[in-house]
Amino acid sequence: MNDAYARFCAELPKAELHLHIEGTLSPQQRLHLARRNGLTVRHGSIAELEAARNFGAAGTPQEDLKEMLDYYYEGIEVLRTERDFFDITYDYLRQCQAENIRYAEISFDPQAHTARGLPFAAVIDGLHNGLVAGEAAFGVRARLVMCINRDRSVESAFEALRAAAAYREWIAGVGLDSIEQGNPPLKFKAVFDRARAQGYRLTAHCDVDQQDSVRHIWQCIDELGVDRIDHGINCIEDVALVSALRARRTCLTACPTWRPRDAGPRRVDRMRTMFDLGLRVTMNSDDPGVLASGSLGHLMPHAGAAGSFTPAELARFSIHAFEGAWLPSAERDAYVREVTDYLRSAERGLQAGQAAGAS
Ligand SMILES: [Zn+2]
Repeated sequence: MNDAYARFCAELPKAELHLHIEGTLSPQQRLHLARRNGLTVRHGSIAELEAARNFGAAGTPQEDLKEMLDYYYEGIEVLRTERDFFDITYDYLRQCQAENIRYAEISFDPQAHTARGLPFAAVIDGLHNGLVAGEAAFGVRARLVMCINRDRSVESAFEALRAAAAYREWIAGVGLDSIEQGNPPLKFKAVFDRARAQGYRLTAHCDVDQQDSVRHIWQCIDELGVDRIDHGINCIEDVALVSALRARRTCLTACPTWRPRDAGPRRVDRMRTMFDLGLRVTMNSDDPGVLASGSLGHLMPHAGAAGSFTPAELARFSIHAFEGAWLPSAERDAYVREVTDYLRSAERGLQAGQAAGAS
């Protein structure tokens, strides 16, 4: 990857649609919040946390996901107060500004917090106020996505929906995440029907290489009626599914992330296939504090180069993300224009550079 390519990625207006706010907790933040909240944690040093997040030694994709989630859920134990939720949201939007991420849809897992005794209000007030303050300070627009943990009960999901009702206007959409094995999308059909009736936009994880991944994607579009799928890259194994996703313009938020043990971005070949098939695929960071790939600004040039994506193709990823954003069409269009204007001026700069080099 050359400097011009890295600079193009850095300055490209970007949108992040698949980001778990709890997954932004870096080892440093985990230790900081543990200290601030007077907690004793199992991994008490950066070195121990770095070793712990190097999961995925020889496991199956299901075991890898479980290990990753064990690290993730242990990490969120340090979030104890409204201020903690405010801080991580505000800090993330600061990071977005630094990377020219112009818009973010930020997922959160309320049940993982209410199950350990935190009031729903502390979680949502902290997140919302952090988002409002971050937008004002950093000029980054953001909205919240409430993720249902699929390894918990349907009744628990309904409880989360009931708790969210008082904050309806603060939450753009409802998602589905956590352990997929044994927890198919269909389990939550009634929950998603209710959420749709309440006006939420809908998304759901179909994680990579899980048991029945393809069948789960079908369930998401046919039964849950989602307009987005998080991950979903196994769709390329089914020609009819690819056609259905393309016809519906379903947004698929792929994550070419990597762990400390990986040499570089994973899943890039399949992202390339999705892109070439004309699917509305986006590039996302998922859990930048947990994975070695970090945030979108760090990940994009590496994943872009690994997939041989040209600058114009990277701009197309950004356009897919803004088109898939849960925003009024006028706002989406304005962001898309930002990307196309940027691409045009960047291409002029590249041509001028090449002409100067040739003369
Ligand atoms: Zn995710």
